[in-house]
Amino acid sequence: MADIYVFQTGSTIVSAAVPDRSSRKSSIAYTGLFQNRKKRITVPVKCFLVEVSGHRILIDTGWSAECAVHPFRHLGFGLWFASEPVMRTEEAVVQHLKQMDLQPSDIDAILLTHLDCDHVSGLIPLKDAAGIYVTKEELDGKNLKNVRYNPNFWKGVDFSFYEMKPDEHAPFGKSCNLFNDGSVVVYFTPSHSAGSVAIEVNDGGRFALFTGDNGYNRHSWEELRLPGPVYDLKNMTKALEWVQAESKRENCAGIYAAHDPEVKQGKYKI
Ligand SMILES: [Zn+2]
Repeated sequence: MADIYVFQTGSTIVSAAVPDRSSRKSSIAYTGLFQNRKKRITVPVKCFLVEVSGHRILIDTGWSAECAVHPFRHLGFGLWFASEPVMRTEEAVVQHLKQMDLQPSDIDAILLTHLDCDHVSGLIPLKDAAGIYVTKEELDGKNLKNVRYNPNFWKGVDFSFYEMKPDEHAPFGKSCNLFNDGSVVVYFTPSHSAGSVAIEVNDGGRFALFTGDNGYNRHSWEELRLPGPVYDLKNMTKALEWVQAESKRENCAGIYAAHDPEVKQGKYKI
């Protein structure tokens, strides 16, 4: 039996084109430029603690508590403008862990799906976790020149890289069997960002899929709605088709997307 804890770390106010690029004409509409801020939408920002086969992993870290106090200073103008955080200090992931009597050092691995601010802003207070994983591609210097990244969020963090191996069942041909026991499989998905991943947790013949931003909500994969921010449009479509196919498998115990309002805070099981 695997336990899944969904933590909500506040929300973010974004252009409607962030989860669904077809909602606006311009391809840069997701940045919110030249749009009435009153017409923006609010989407939740979640991260996930999973206990499976004796491993305790955290998938993404959501907003930092700093976003409740000094959001502008923490994010910088560009990121704040495109994705304004709304949160209370007690919603930060460190506070959720504290409520469960957990220290960062009690986490075996923090698995980052990618390095966008709403997934990594809460990382620094957790840097004592045993391992903090990201793909080589995501941390590549060329990639990080993009304004969407702010390296301050991982200053002083000692990253480990997912060890990706060829996998004919993986949507993009590569996956990482994190603990070599099949309990946590990380799939390379260069779609939303250059090195983004999706994470599958397996127990007792059933699985849960954590999409990262390979899908903002159920409509993303059910109706193949492409998000605004993408690294590769063709790959994004392929990733959504893959998530859709996974969601239809009989042994699928749930699809968990970080920004899905239907995934409520609480405890779930596989
Ligand atoms: Zn996101």
